Amino acid sequence: MSGPSVLLDTHNRVIRDLRISITDRCNFNCIYCLPETEEAANLFQSVAPEAKSSAPVPGKLPYPWKPRSQILSFEEIVRVIQVAASFGVDKIRITGGEPLLRRGIESLISQIAAIDLIRDLSLTTNGTHFPRLAKRLKEAGLGRVTISLDSLDRDNFKKITGHDRLAEVLKSICLAKSIGLTPLKVNAVIIRGLNDHEIVRLAKFALDEDIVMRFIEFMPLDSRKAWCRDHVVSGSEILRQIQSKYPLTRLPVANPSETSTRWSLGRGAAEVGIIAPVTQPFCGDCNRIRLTADGKIRTCLFSHHEHDLKPSLRKGSDTAELAARLQQIVLKKEPGHRINEADFVQPARTMSLIGG
Ligand code: SAM
Ligand code: SF4
Repeated sequence: MSGPSVLLDTHNRVIRDLRISITDRCNFNCIYCLPETEEAANLFQSVAPEAKSSAPVPGKLPYPWKPRSQILSFEEIVRVIQVAASFGVDKIRITGGEPLLRRGIESLISQIAAIDLIRDLSLTTNGTHFPRLAKRLKEAGLGRVTISLDSLDRDNFKKITGHDRLAEVLKSICLAKSIGLTPLKVNAVIIRGLNDHEIVRLAKFALDEDIVMRFIEFMPLDSRKAWCRDHVVSGSEILRQIQSKYPLTRLPVANPSETSTRWSLGRGAAEVGIIAPVTQPFCGDCNRIRLTADGKIRTCLFSHHEHDLKPSLRKGSDTAELAARLQQIVLKKEPGHRINEADFVQPARTMSLIGG
Protein backbone atom coordinates (compact mmCIF):
# COMPACT_ATOMS: atom_id res chain seq x y z
CA MET A 1 0.00 0.00 0.00
CA SER A 2 1.43 3.43 -0.89
CA GLY A 3 0.99 6.65 1.08
CA PRO A 4 1.56 7.30 4.78
CA SER A 5 1.35 4.28 7.08
CA VAL A 6 -0.40 6.31 9.76
CA LEU A 7 -3.80 7.98 9.86
CA LEU A 8 -2.71 11.57 9.40
CA ASP A 9 -5.30 14.35 9.19
CA THR A 10 -4.98 17.69 7.42
CA HIS A 11 -4.01 19.41 10.69
CA ASN A 12 -0.98 17.18 11.23
CA ARG A 13 -2.62 15.07 13.90
CA VAL A 14 -1.95 11.34 13.88
CA ILE A 15 -4.84 9.15 14.99
CA ARG A 16 -3.86 6.58 17.62
CA ASP A 17 -7.04 6.21 19.63
CA LEU A 18 -10.27 4.54 18.47
CA ARG A 19 -13.34 4.67 20.72
CA ILE A 20 -15.96 2.13 19.89
CA SER A 21 -19.57 2.21 20.98
CA ILE A 22 -20.88 -1.35 20.91
CA THR A 23 -24.50 -0.56 21.78
CA ASP A 24 -26.82 2.44 21.69
CA ARG A 25 -28.80 1.01 24.63
CA CYS A 26 -28.49 2.10 28.21
CA ASN A 27 -30.09 1.17 31.52
CA PHE A 28 -29.49 4.64 33.04
CA ASN A 29 -30.95 8.06 32.32
CA CYS A 30 -28.07 10.31 33.28
CA ILE A 31 -29.21 13.89 33.38
CA TYR A 32 -26.32 15.08 31.20
CA CYS A 33 -26.76 12.32 28.62
CA LEU A 34 -30.13 10.59 28.36
CA PRO A 35 -32.40 12.43 30.78
CA GLU A 36 -35.74 11.14 29.58
CA THR A 37 -37.36 11.23 33.00
CA GLU A 38 -39.85 13.60 34.57
CA GLU A 39 -37.41 14.19 37.42
CA ALA A 40 -34.65 15.22 35.05
CA ALA A 41 -36.92 17.70 33.27
CA ASN A 42 -37.85 19.26 36.61
CA LEU A 43 -34.25 19.40 37.69
CA PHE A 44 -33.12 21.20 34.57
CA GLN A 45 -35.92 23.67 35.11
CA SER A 46 -34.74 24.36 38.66
CA VAL A 47 -31.03 24.53 37.78
CA ALA A 48 -31.64 26.89 34.86
CA PRO A 49 -35.29 27.77 34.31
CA GLU A 50 -34.56 29.25 30.89
CA ALA A 51 -33.27 25.87 29.63
CA LYS A 52 -35.30 24.34 26.83
CA SER A 53 -37.13 21.58 28.60
CA SER A 54 -40.33 20.24 27.18
CA ALA A 55 -42.16 17.57 29.17
CA PRO A 56 -40.80 14.09 28.50
CA VAL A 57 -43.16 11.33 27.48
CA PRO A 58 -42.59 8.70 30.19
CA GLY A 59 -40.84 5.63 28.85
CA LYS A 60 -40.46 7.14 25.37
CA LEU A 61 -36.96 7.72 24.06
CA PRO A 62 -36.18 10.64 21.74
CA TYR A 63 -35.18 7.91 19.27
CA PRO A 64 -35.85 4.17 19.27
CA TRP A 65 -33.00 1.70 19.91
CA LYS A 66 -31.51 0.58 16.61
CA PRO A 67 -32.60 -2.85 15.43
CA ARG A 68 -29.96 -5.55 15.83
CA SER A 69 -29.48 -5.78 12.06
CA GLN A 70 -28.11 -2.22 12.02
CA ILE A 71 -25.61 -2.81 14.82
CA LEU A 72 -22.13 -3.96 13.84
CA SER A 73 -21.34 -7.57 14.66
CA PHE A 74 -18.22 -8.38 16.71
CA GLU A 75 -16.61 -9.66 13.53
CA GLU A 76 -17.22 -6.31 11.80
CA ILE A 77 -15.91 -4.35 14.78
CA VAL A 78 -12.74 -6.46 14.93
CA ARG A 79 -12.21 -5.95 11.21
CA VAL A 80 -12.28 -2.17 11.65
CA ILE A 81 -9.85 -2.43 14.57
CA GLN A 82 -7.44 -4.56 12.53
CA VAL A 83 -7.40 -2.00 9.74
CA ALA A 84 -6.96 0.88 12.21
CA ALA A 85 -4.21 -1.03 14.03
CA SER A 86 -2.32 -1.49 10.77
CA PHE A 87 -2.09 2.34 10.73
CA GLY A 88 -0.70 2.53 14.24
CA VAL A 89 -3.92 2.91 16.22
CA ASP A 90 -2.91 1.16 19.43
CA LYS A 91 -5.47 2.38 21.94
CA ILE A 92 -9.02 1.01 21.99
CA ARG A 93 -11.78 2.05 24.36
CA ILE A 94 -15.05 0.12 24.38
CA THR A 95 -18.04 2.21 25.35
CA GLY A 96 -21.72 2.83 24.62
CA GLY A 97 -24.59 3.32 25.64
CA GLU A 98 -23.84 0.87 28.38
CA PRO A 99 -21.34 -1.58 26.84
CA LEU A 100 -21.95 -4.29 29.43
CA LEU A 101 -25.51 -4.67 28.11
CA ARG A 102 -24.11 -6.21 24.92
CA ARG A 103 -24.32 -9.97 25.23
CA GLY A 104 -21.03 -11.85 24.83
CA ILE A 105 -18.87 -8.77 25.35
CA GLU A 106 -16.07 -10.91 26.82
CA SER A 107 -15.74 -12.64 23.44
CA LEU A 108 -15.24 -9.26 21.74
CA ILE A 109 -12.66 -8.29 24.37
CA SER A 110 -10.68 -11.49 23.82
CA GLN A 111 -10.69 -10.98 20.05
CA ILE A 112 -9.39 -7.42 20.43
CA ALA A 113 -6.83 -8.44 23.05
CA ALA A 114 -5.48 -10.98 20.56
CA ILE A 115 -4.50 -8.19 18.15
CA ASP A 116 -0.79 -7.73 18.94
CA LEU A 117 -0.66 -4.09 17.87
CA ILE A 118 -3.20 -2.98 20.50
CA ARG A 119 -1.32 -1.91 23.61
CA ASP A 120 -4.15 -0.31 25.60
CA LEU A 121 -7.60 -1.91 25.80
CA SER A 122 -10.06 -0.28 28.16
CA LEU A 123 -13.78 0.02 28.76
CA THR A 124 -16.08 2.69 30.16
CA THR A 125 -19.12 1.54 32.13
CA ASN A 126 -21.74 2.82 34.53
CA GLY A 127 -20.76 -0.12 36.73
CA THR A 128 -24.16 -1.77 37.15
CA HIS A 129 -23.43 -5.04 35.32
CA PHE A 130 -19.78 -5.05 36.21
CA PRO A 131 -19.84 -7.32 39.29
CA ARG A 132 -21.30 -10.11 37.15
CA LEU A 133 -18.79 -9.72 34.31
CA ALA A 134 -15.60 -8.32 35.84
CA LYS A 135 -13.60 -11.53 36.20
CA ARG A 136 -14.54 -12.76 32.72
CA LEU A 137 -13.55 -9.41 31.20
CA LYS A 138 -10.21 -9.46 32.97
CA GLU A 139 -9.56 -13.05 31.85
CA ALA A 140 -10.52 -12.11 28.30
CA GLY A 141 -7.74 -9.53 28.26
CA LEU A 142 -9.32 -6.23 29.27
CA GLY A 143 -6.53 -3.95 30.51
CA ARG A 144 -8.36 -1.38 32.57
CA VAL A 145 -11.71 0.15 33.22
CA THR A 146 -13.30 3.56 33.77
CA ILE A 147 -16.42 3.69 35.93
CA SER A 148 -18.82 6.63 36.03
CA LEU A 149 -19.76 7.97 39.46
CA ASP A 150 -21.24 11.46 39.72
CA SER A 151 -22.34 11.42 43.34
CA LEU A 152 -21.61 9.71 46.64
CA ASP A 153 -25.01 10.59 48.00
CA ARG A 154 -27.68 7.95 47.39
CA ASP A 155 -30.50 10.42 46.67
CA ASN A 156 -28.37 12.63 44.48
CA PHE A 157 -27.03 9.62 42.59
CA LYS A 158 -30.63 8.62 41.88
CA LYS A 159 -31.49 12.15 40.76
CA ILE A 160 -28.54 12.23 38.36
CA THR A 161 -28.79 8.75 36.86
CA GLY A 162 -32.50 8.08 37.32
CA HIS A 163 -31.69 4.88 39.26
CA ASP A 164 -31.12 3.95 42.90
CA ARG A 165 -27.96 1.93 42.24
CA LEU A 166 -25.13 3.75 43.99
CA ALA A 167 -24.24 0.71 46.13
CA GLU A 168 -23.66 -1.46 43.04
CA VAL A 169 -21.40 1.13 41.46
CA LEU A 170 -19.35 1.45 44.66
CA LYS A 171 -19.05 -2.32 44.75
CA SER A 172 -17.81 -2.28 41.14
CA ILE A 173 -15.13 0.25 42.02
CA CYS A 174 -13.81 -2.01 44.82
CA LEU A 175 -13.97 -5.03 42.56
CA ALA A 176 -12.12 -3.38 39.67
CA LYS A 177 -9.30 -2.48 42.06
CA SER A 178 -9.17 -5.89 43.67
CA ILE A 179 -8.88 -7.79 40.39
CA GLY A 180 -6.30 -5.37 38.99
CA LEU A 181 -8.26 -3.58 36.27
CA THR A 182 -6.06 -0.59 36.95
CA PRO A 183 -5.20 2.26 36.89
CA LEU A 184 -8.84 2.66 37.79
CA LYS A 185 -10.36 5.89 36.56
CA VAL A 186 -13.66 7.15 37.91
CA ASN A 187 -15.55 9.81 35.90
CA ALA A 188 -17.80 12.49 37.36
CA VAL A 189 -19.60 15.02 35.18
CA ILE A 190 -20.11 18.14 37.28
CA ILE A 191 -23.28 20.20 36.84
CA ARG A 192 -23.94 23.44 38.64
CA GLY A 193 -26.51 23.17 41.38
CA LEU A 194 -26.63 19.41 41.10
CA ASN A 195 -23.36 17.88 42.25
CA ASP A 196 -20.88 20.77 42.43
CA HIS A 197 -21.24 20.64 46.23
CA GLU A 198 -19.78 17.10 46.07
CA ILE A 199 -16.51 18.02 44.32
CA VAL A 200 -14.34 17.97 47.46
CA ARG A 201 -16.05 14.84 48.71
CA LEU A 202 -15.32 13.09 45.41
CA ALA A 203 -11.66 14.16 45.63
CA LYS A 204 -11.52 12.72 49.14
CA PHE A 205 -12.98 9.51 47.72
CA ALA A 206 -10.01 9.34 45.31
CA LEU A 207 -7.64 9.75 48.25
CA ASP A 208 -9.40 7.15 50.39
CA GLU A 209 -9.72 4.63 47.57
CA ASP A 210 -6.32 5.37 45.98
CA ILE A 211 -7.83 5.89 42.53
CA VAL A 212 -7.91 8.46 39.73
CA MET A 213 -11.00 10.70 40.01
CA ARG A 214 -11.71 12.64 36.82
CA PHE A 215 -13.94 15.68 36.85
CA ILE A 216 -15.55 16.42 33.48
CA GLU A 217 -17.18 19.61 32.28
CA PHE A 218 -20.76 19.16 31.10
CA MET A 219 -20.78 19.15 27.29
CA PRO A 220 -23.73 19.90 24.97
CA LEU A 221 -24.45 16.27 24.09
CA ASP A 222 -27.61 15.58 26.11
CA SER A 223 -30.75 14.17 24.50
CA ARG A 224 -33.01 16.96 25.76
CA LYS A 225 -30.70 19.65 24.42
CA ALA A 226 -31.07 21.38 27.77
CA TRP A 227 -27.35 22.19 28.05
CA CYS A 228 -26.52 25.81 28.62
CA ARG A 229 -23.44 27.59 29.87
CA ASP A 230 -25.01 28.20 33.29
CA HIS A 231 -24.89 24.46 33.94
CA VAL A 232 -21.16 24.20 33.29
CA VAL A 233 -18.75 24.26 36.22
CA SER A 234 -15.41 25.13 34.68
CA GLY A 235 -12.36 22.95 35.15
CA SER A 236 -10.54 25.83 36.86
CA GLU A 237 -13.39 26.28 39.34
CA ILE A 238 -13.37 22.55 40.09
CA LEU A 239 -9.61 22.67 40.62
CA ARG A 240 -9.87 25.71 42.92
CA GLN A 241 -12.43 23.95 45.09
CA ILE A 242 -10.22 20.87 45.48
CA GLN A 243 -7.08 22.94 46.07
CA SER A 244 -8.80 24.84 48.85
CA LYS A 245 -8.93 21.56 50.75
CA TYR A 246 -6.06 19.42 49.44
CA PRO A 247 -2.60 20.42 48.20
CA LEU A 248 -2.29 19.21 44.61
CA THR A 249 0.88 18.64 42.60
CA ARG A 250 0.64 18.90 38.82
CA LEU A 251 1.76 15.67 37.18
CA PRO A 252 3.85 15.79 34.01
CA VAL A 253 2.10 15.41 30.67
CA ALA A 254 2.78 11.84 29.58
CA ASN A 255 1.18 12.32 26.18
CA PRO A 256 0.08 15.60 24.52
CA SER A 257 -3.19 13.98 23.43
CA GLU A 258 -4.28 13.40 27.03
CA THR A 259 -7.70 14.89 27.65
CA SER A 260 -7.11 15.64 31.32
CA THR A 261 -4.68 17.71 33.30
CA ARG A 262 -3.52 15.42 36.08
CA TRP A 263 -2.85 16.30 39.69
CA SER A 264 -1.46 14.11 42.44
CA LEU A 265 -3.27 14.17 45.77
CA GLY A 266 0.05 13.48 47.44
CA ARG A 267 -0.49 9.90 48.48
CA GLY A 268 -0.17 6.62 46.56
CA ALA A 269 -1.91 6.50 43.19
CA ALA A 270 -4.62 8.96 44.23
CA GLU A 271 -5.07 11.51 41.48
CA VAL A 272 -7.42 14.17 40.28
CA GLY A 273 -7.95 14.66 36.55
CA ILE A 274 -9.63 17.74 35.13
CA ILE A 275 -11.26 17.38 31.73
CA ALA A 276 -12.31 20.80 30.48
CA PRO A 277 -13.36 20.50 26.83
CA VAL A 278 -15.71 23.51 27.06
CA THR A 279 -13.52 26.12 28.75
CA GLN A 280 -10.08 24.78 27.75
CA PRO A 281 -10.51 22.89 24.45
CA PHE A 282 -7.76 20.39 23.62
CA CYS A 283 -8.71 19.80 19.98
CA GLY A 284 -5.27 20.81 18.66
CA ASP A 285 -3.79 17.59 20.05
CA CYS A 286 -6.77 15.32 19.49
CA ASN A 287 -5.73 11.87 18.25
CA ARG A 288 -9.16 10.22 18.50
CA ILE A 289 -11.85 8.98 16.17
CA ARG A 290 -15.03 7.14 17.11
CA LEU A 291 -16.98 4.23 15.69
CA THR A 292 -20.68 4.19 16.55
CA ALA A 293 -22.59 1.00 17.26
CA ASP A 294 -24.25 1.28 13.84
CA GLY A 295 -20.97 1.55 12.00
CA LYS A 296 -20.45 5.29 11.50
CA ILE A 297 -17.04 6.87 11.96
CA ARG A 298 -17.21 10.22 13.75
CA THR A 299 -14.10 12.34 13.49
CA CYS A 300 -15.19 14.61 16.36
CA LEU A 301 -17.66 14.31 19.25
CA PHE A 302 -19.36 17.35 17.76
CA SER A 303 -19.32 16.33 14.07
CA HIS A 304 -22.42 17.00 12.03
CA HIS A 305 -21.33 14.56 9.39
CA GLU A 306 -20.69 10.84 9.85
CA HIS A 307 -18.96 8.34 7.59
CA ASP A 308 -20.81 5.06 7.22
CA LEU A 309 -18.45 2.06 7.12
CA LYS A 310 -21.24 -0.50 7.32
CA PRO A 311 -21.95 -0.73 3.56
CA SER A 312 -18.24 -1.34 2.83
CA LEU A 313 -18.03 -3.92 5.62
CA ARG A 314 -21.14 -5.71 4.44
CA LYS A 315 -20.52 -5.67 0.71
CA GLY A 316 -17.24 -7.50 1.30
CA SER A 317 -14.69 -4.73 0.68
CA ASP A 318 -11.17 -6.04 1.04
CA THR A 319 -8.68 -4.75 3.60
CA ALA A 320 -6.98 -2.37 1.13
CA GLU A 321 -10.35 -0.76 0.28
CA LEU A 322 -11.26 -0.36 3.95
CA ALA A 323 -7.84 1.08 4.71
CA ALA A 324 -8.16 3.62 1.89
CA ARG A 325 -11.64 4.58 3.13
CA LEU A 326 -10.36 5.14 6.66
CA GLN A 327 -7.52 7.32 5.40
CA GLN A 328 -9.97 9.44 3.39
CA ILE A 329 -12.29 9.80 6.36
CA VAL A 330 -9.52 10.96 8.66
CA LEU A 331 -8.67 13.73 6.19
CA LYS A 332 -12.11 15.19 7.01
CA LYS A 333 -11.36 15.50 10.73
CA GLU A 334 -12.51 18.91 11.92
CA PRO A 335 -9.90 21.33 13.33
CA GLY A 336 -11.90 21.50 16.55
CA HIS A 337 -15.29 21.73 18.15
CA ARG A 338 -17.20 24.98 17.95
CA ILE A 339 -18.92 24.98 21.35
CA ASN A 340 -17.68 28.48 22.05
CA GLU A 341 -18.68 29.93 18.67
CA ALA A 342 -21.88 31.94 18.32
CA ASP A 343 -23.13 29.64 15.55
CA PHE A 344 -22.55 26.38 17.48
CA VAL A 345 -25.21 23.76 16.85
CA GLN A 346 -25.44 20.69 19.06
CA PRO A 347 -25.04 17.45 17.07
CA ALA A 348 -28.13 15.30 16.56
CA ARG A 349 -26.61 12.32 18.36
CA THR A 350 -26.36 12.28 22.12
CA MET A 351 -23.29 11.11 24.03
CA SER A 352 -25.02 7.77 24.62
CA LEU A 353 -25.25 7.26 20.84
CA ILE A 354 -21.74 8.44 20.08
CA GLY A 355 -19.75 6.76 22.83
CA GLY A 356 -17.82 8.86 25.32
N1 SAM B 1 -22.57 4.13 29.93
C1 SAM B 1 -21.18 4.21 30.21
C2 SAM B 1 -20.89 5.18 31.32
O1 SAM B 1 -21.76 5.97 31.65
O2 SAM B 1 -19.78 5.15 31.82
C3 SAM B 1 -20.34 4.53 28.99
C4 SAM B 1 -20.88 5.54 28.03
S1 SAM B 1 -20.95 7.19 28.65
C5 SAM B 1 -21.60 8.03 27.23
C6 SAM B 1 -19.22 7.62 28.70
C7 SAM B 1 -18.87 8.83 29.52
O3 SAM B 1 -19.44 9.96 28.92
C8 SAM B 1 -19.36 8.76 30.95
O4 SAM B 1 -18.29 8.86 31.84
C9 SAM B 1 -20.27 9.97 31.05
O5 SAM B 1 -20.16 10.54 32.31
C10 SAM B 1 -19.76 10.87 29.95
N2 SAM B 1 -20.79 11.80 29.46
C11 SAM B 1 -22.02 11.49 29.00
N3 SAM B 1 -22.69 12.61 28.63
C12 SAM B 1 -21.85 13.65 28.88
C13 SAM B 1 -21.97 15.07 28.71
N4 SAM B 1 -23.06 15.63 28.21
N5 SAM B 1 -20.90 15.84 29.06
C14 SAM B 1 -19.79 15.28 29.56
N6 SAM B 1 -19.61 13.95 29.72
C15 SAM B 1 -20.63 13.15 29.40
FE1 SF4 C 1 -25.40 7.50 31.72
FE2 SF4 C 1 -23.54 6.24 30.28
FE3 SF4 C 1 -26.10 5.68 29.98
FE4 SF4 C 1 -25.23 8.01 29.12
S1 SF4 C 1 -24.63 6.07 28.31
S2 SF4 C 1 -27.14 7.60 30.27
S3 SF4 C 1 -23.65 8.44 30.65
S4 SF4 C 1 -24.88 5.40 31.85
